[in-house]
Amino acid sequence: MTATTDLVSYEDALASYDPVMGLEVHVELGTKTKMFCGCSTELGAEPNSQACPTCLGMPGALPVVNAIGVESAIKIGLALHCEIAEWCRFARKNYFYPDMPKNFQTSQYDEPIAFNGYLDVQLEDGEVFRVEIERAHMEEDTGKSTHVGGATGRIHGASHSLLDYNRAGIPLIEIVTKPIEGAGERAPEVAKAYVAELRELIKALGVSEARMEMGQMRCDVNLSLRPHGREKFGTRSETKNVNSLRSVERAARFEIQRHAAVLDGGGTIIQETRHFHEDTGSTTSGRVKEEAEDYRYFPEPDLVPVAPSREWVEELRAGLPEQPLARRNRLREEWGVSAHDMQSMLNAGAIDLIVATIDAGADAASARKWWMGELARTANETGVPLEALPITPEQVARVTALVAEGSLNDKLARQVIEGVVKGEGGPDEVVEKRGLKVVSDEGALTAAVDEAIAANPGVADKIRAGKVAAAGALVGAVMKATRGQADAARVKELVLERLGATEG
Ligand SMILES: [Zn+2]
Repeated sequence: MTATTDLVSYEDALASYDPVMGLEVHVELGTKTKMFCGCSTELGAEPNSQACPTCLGMPGALPVVNAIGVESAIKIGLALHCEIAEWCRFARKNYFYPDMPKNFQTSQYDEPIAFNGYLDVQLEDGEVFRVEIERAHMEEDTGKSTHVGGATGRIHGASHSLLDYNRAGIPLIEIVTKPIEGAGERAPEVAKAYVAELRELIKALGVSEARMEMGQMRCDVNLSLRPHGREKFGTRSETKNVNSLRSVERAARFEIQRHAAVLDGGGTIIQETRHFHEDTGSTTSGRVKEEAEDYRYFPEPDLVPVAPSREWVEELRAGLPEQPLARRNRLREEWGVSAHDMQSMLNAGAIDLIVATIDAGADAASARKWWMGELARTANETGVPLEALPITPEQVARVTALVAEGSLNDKLARQVIEGVVKGEGGPDEVVEKRGLKVVSDEGALTAAVDEAIAANPGVADKIRAGKVAAAGALVGAVMKATRGQADAARVKELVLERLGATEG
């Protein structure tokens, strides 16, 4: 790994060059079985326990296409406004890699199932940018190699490698954009917004959970620069398998600065794959990129062509969900929030969780407050995505109900949420176990207020003399005495009542 890479400042790079991007996103479908055999796709099984002669490419084994895989591909194509092929075939992409036992990947080459579409994505300021889609095609995932003994976990420096073929043959849809031009300095932001929008779309279609941190969705960022005013594209680099929204943006930005430095120095960009490093935000050289002809693509002879009937395609089109961008615009109106706030919820992956919490009975403002406040903070601190936190929308809705009926105040509700996330049980159980209930017994509250008055005679005199603002100190004392379990508004009323003062 090179320790330093020459970069020019982002502003200087943009002053001389236009970035052109191509984004290739792989989505792992959530089918129960693999793309061409009946092996389970369930995660977490013993290595190599979900592999059969077909997905291992043993002699004589014959693949069969997974119908749900094809259906999911068509749904994705339709949602991306693509044309759907009336007839298409699979192709063999030949190359050797230890985690690919067949020595070829079953993919699609010049006959993708979906082509010529677009996806509108919204930028931070609300502007909509159209990203054109070249194609979406079906293929299979490879197995997983684990390189052992090296410092970096990469093959370089490893003493040996372990191979797990459970992932080999899991259905993938690869979605490829046309060259994205004209985004200028906003190119990295467009890349991030595109992947975010695509993730929402995939989730809305129900074809995959699209969890980037679990590798269910990964993005290759292809980038090249050309001097202002020039038609011809520059040579591109391909940063592989970037697996978070933030990293997609950072990788694009880094490559813009790196390319500019090479070009400014009179050098040439090598067409190569590159690895992105989360820790430094930089990329390093991978391997020199093969050309398509190196793969010796040819039509897969063991699989029948896919020829979806127009009736089926129209049926799937009619069943498409609302487009996520349209849905967000509708929710923005309903919730009365800004485009910027909506973008934050999108980036946090919170929208579906908030909607589900509202469906479970919470009001919109409370649902947003807990998911984007306390829970987002927990997610950040623990590095666990919001949707993977061990708390359900129903449980969050229950907490908001307890607040609404006055049994919890915000401070106590935070402790309840903390308890649920720590696995102490559901909200009611945590309230019970931790003894977290607002003290609503008037007798107990009045006693606590009288105690606070007796302990702070100076303050009490001020309030009697009309300085109502001084009541805060007594309210604070009561809240402390009740360990935060009193209703502060009621305490203030009682303080004023006992001292014969009135508000305002
Ligand atoms: Zn199999």
